[in-house]
Amino acid sequence: MDFSISEKMQTILEMMKDFVEKELIPLEPELLKGNERSLLPIIEEKKKMVKQMELWAPNHPKEYGGMGLNLVEHGLVSEVLGRTPLGFLVFGCQAPDAGNIEIIHKYGTKEQEKTYLKPLIAGEIRSCFSMTEVDQPGSNPVLLDTTAVKDGDDYVIDGHKWYTSSADGAKFAIVMAVTNPDETPYMRASMIIVPTDTPGFNLVRNISVMGHSGEDYFSHAEILYQSCRVPQKNLLGGEGQGFVIAQERLGPGRIHHCMRWIGICNRVYDLMCQRALNRVISPGKTLASKQIIQAWIAESAAEIRAARLMVLHTAWTIENLGVKEAREDISLIKFVVANTMQKVIDRALQVHGGLGMTDDTIIAYFFRHERAARIYDGADEVHKASVTRRILKGYQGKQIK
Ligand SMILES: Cc1cc2nc3c(=O)[nH]c(=O)nc-3n(C[C@H](O)[C@H](O)[C@H](O)COP(=O)(O)OP(=O)(O)OC[C@H]3O[C@@H](n4cnc5c(N)ncnc54)[C@H](O)[C@@H]3O)c2cc1C
Repeated sequence: MDFSISEKMQTILEMMKDFVEKELIPLEPELLKGNERSLLPIIEEKKKMVKQMELWAPNHPKEYGGMGLNLVEHGLVSEVLGRTPLGFLVFGCQAPDAGNIEIIHKYGTKEQEKTYLKPLIAGEIRSCFSMTEVDQPGSNPVLLDTTAVKDGDDYVIDGHKWYTSSADGAKFAIVMAVTNPDETPYMRASMIIVPTDTPGFNLVRNISVMGHSGEDYFSHAEILYQSCRVPQKNLLGGEGQGFVIAQERLGPGRIHHCMRWIGICNRVYDLMCQRALNRVISPGKTLASKQIIQAWIAESAAEIRAARLMVLHTAWTIENLGVKEAREDISLIKFVVANTMQKVIDRALQVHGGLGMTDDTIIAYFFRHERAARIYDGADEVHKASVTRRILKGYQGKQIK
């Protein structure tokens, strides 16, 4: 594997670093106050600046106005953009839109591309992905209850979802619903595009998560679909293909999160090192002189580097050998990077003492919001079980001496 970074990529990364430092990190205090909606106009301004710099949508195809970077390059970019909760959004590569873009690009009709894909990639609208339900385990989505029943030219959708991230302010949802109840478990569901202004799309609330319900992009909604009627032409892909498409969406989606989490690790690690050097703990001695703090810094450095290499190698595998070949690696990085991030954030918070608990630094924000990394897109336990199943399969019938 070639670890060198091309000159072109180095220039891109420098430009992005500079932008994140100068234009985005100064906006964080407002975000930390919980005034997300008040930031929307300035976020739009920053998006325009990013487009003018030709750094918009790094991971999306050039023909749609993106930069067309490959997955390894996007991994490098994400390390920079992940340093702030605003990075991915302002550069047009944020979840859940990135995943929705990929599946509409692959499965959408010409009309769906025109109506939903183009404005989504351009950052003119946002979307959400509505699969997890209140009353069924997200870890075993074949049990989902939401139904989409044909009536004339329409589907009529009924169901109770939650954790539909960023539904507040989104133009449309991609909804996972049972269309073929008599089929085998993995062929029962379909994905359907539902504009959020459709009667029967009822956003009940933005769920309070770790003490804050958030607004607009920065929120997770509970949604009741009540006789929610959309034309059958809103079906994405074929009927019964929901789980096939979901698998395609979740693979790359997971690695995007992991790449972003490396950025978070680096940011809080930098803050931890800075605090260790500056905090005088006794006359003439800083926190950096204490062995336990030194150990946290060294362990964090090693763990972040190991996690980063795993992520970039997985990106390389997807890029060169395909998602299928990378399935095991995707599951491994999902729980390794989530746990590394959690550990490093926790150490950084501890080194900051009382200050770490406040919203005067970004650390507590990451501590609250990124705990979920071990749950969404497959809980740790589910990934570990599936990886182990695959690993042990390779040992079946073998004689190891
Ligand atoms: C911040 C956040 C954002 C999210 N965004 C979205 C979104 O945009 N769209 C969407 O559709 N969903 C979203 N989700 C939902 C997420 O995908 C689910 O929470 C996740 O799939 C787990 O499902 P569940 O919450 O129903 O937990 P359950 O399935 O009830 O599982 C609970 C726990 O049981 C354990 N467990 C489960 N299965 C096994 C097993 N086989 N072996 C051992 N232990 C097991 C795990 O520890 C798991 O955490 C989001 C969740 C969060 C927290």
